[in-house]
Amino acid sequence: MSQQTIVVVGAGQAGAWAARTLRNEGFAGHVVLVGYEAHPPYERPPLSKEQLQPDPTQMDSLLSAAEMADLDIDWLPSLACVRIDRVARQIVLSNDETIGYDKLILATGGIARVPPLPGIDAPCVHTLRTLDDAQRLRSALKPGAHLLVIGGGWIGLEVAASARQLGCNVTLVESGATLCGRTGSPALSAYLTDLHASHGVDLRLSSGVAALENTSSAGCRAVLADGSSVNVHLVVVGIGLIQNDAVASQAGLECDHGVIVDRQCRTSDPDIFAAGDVTAMREDQGLLRLESWQNAQDQGIAAARAVLGQAVDYRPVPYFWSQQYDTMVQLAGRSAPGAIQVTRGDASRMMVVDLTADGRVLSAIVANNPRDFRTLRKFVSDGTRIDAGRFADPAMPLAKLAIAA
Ligand SMILES: Cc1cc2nc3c(=O)[nH]c(=O)nc-3n(C[C@H](O)[C@H](O)[C@H](O)COP(=O)(O)OP(=O)(O)OC[C@H]3O[C@@H](n4cnc5c(N)ncnc54)[C@H](O)[C@@H]3O)c2cc1C
Repeated sequence: MSQQTIVVVGAGQAGAWAARTLRNEGFAGHVVLVGYEAHPPYERPPLSKEQLQPDPTQMDSLLSAAEMADLDIDWLPSLACVRIDRVARQIVLSNDETIGYDKLILATGGIARVPPLPGIDAPCVHTLRTLDDAQRLRSALKPGAHLLVIGGGWIGLEVAASARQLGCNVTLVESGATLCGRTGSPALSAYLTDLHASHGVDLRLSSGVAALENTSSAGCRAVLADGSSVNVHLVVVGIGLIQNDAVASQAGLECDHGVIVDRQCRTSDPDIFAAGDVTAMREDQGLLRLESWQNAQDQGIAAARAVLGQAVDYRPVPYFWSQQYDTMVQLAGRSAPGAIQVTRGDASRMMVVDLTADGRVLSAIVANNPRDFRTLRKFVSDGTRIDAGRFADPAMPLAKLAIAA
């Protein structure tokens, strides 16, 4: 019998974990890992944090070239999969070569969304998704430079914080009325607003950029929606992600802003699986899209196990963290319509949970307190019920809050 080939497309975090797991789980056939980037797989969180600090350290690989050789993973860097031929069960690469597969895992992640603004193609405009993006941005962030950040979500805020730490002036424009509005927590938005205002970021909420004028490599004039303008040396766009699902969609796989998968990471083709930022997971309430480090790892592992025929039932408890200045914010779980939001102590502590009417902890947000966060994260994953009044009292130890079932 000829040996089986499993091809993983996308050598990011999810793809690397999928390829590694195939070997960890004993798969002895041919494993191919196709990656558009020239670098071995690496993790992206440091790109907006450590990599934008004064003396960035060398980035570690998640799976080095030597490890891939040891694991007998056939890594094909700097190549894109441009087409999937589902009938012939092969992929076509950007160099016109084809690779046949028995099973295929798509882990193609996403690219930074860019608004269709006049001037947006100028050399002073940056996005931040790859190591190459981070290195280009880092060399442009000179002390005293004026940076415009478009977007008050996680990446925009982390870039703003790093730039302030490098001695840049920062103006941040956010079209919504609050920072990180998608988290649905007014307490968190207020906390982040105070944090950045106190570090001297010029926050322009409920505002937008209408055009970038007089663009050059040395900067531009950003015209805001209210007609005012600001002269800046560089611009970073941080307004979210577009899933790299074009190849999947052209192959006729079911997609909706991401490749639709089930809890076994299966797409609408039984031989094709997907993991990481590129997925939209079908569940009773709709489609779940998670763009996070934890999900990229866990879903990559789950996809590989499912490909090998193991029983997989992927039910992630969302987890995300962000580092800004000396502040670490951690989030777990998901809120739901009608949830009751309870703050512990005063708002400056930033410890908030969302509870169901009967006290079950749906989600938690905590700043600068990893120990308490661990307890709350466990409450979320265990579906623990707590008393809202006792949680609000910071004198009550968290460990004693659980209500017996
Ligand atoms: C700057 C930054 C900071 C972040 N910080 C945090 C954080 O603090 N906490 C957190 O939880 N999460 C964070 N994240 C999110 C986290 O890094 C992502 O969720 C994770 O990287 C997703 O992994 P992935 O493998 O699904 O996709 P990606 O990391 O996007 O990898 C996909 C890979 O596939 C390649 N590819 C795409 N199409 C093709 C193709 N057709 N052929 C071949 N290769 C292809 C791409 O080039 C890329 O290398 C951050 C992300 C960024 C960008």
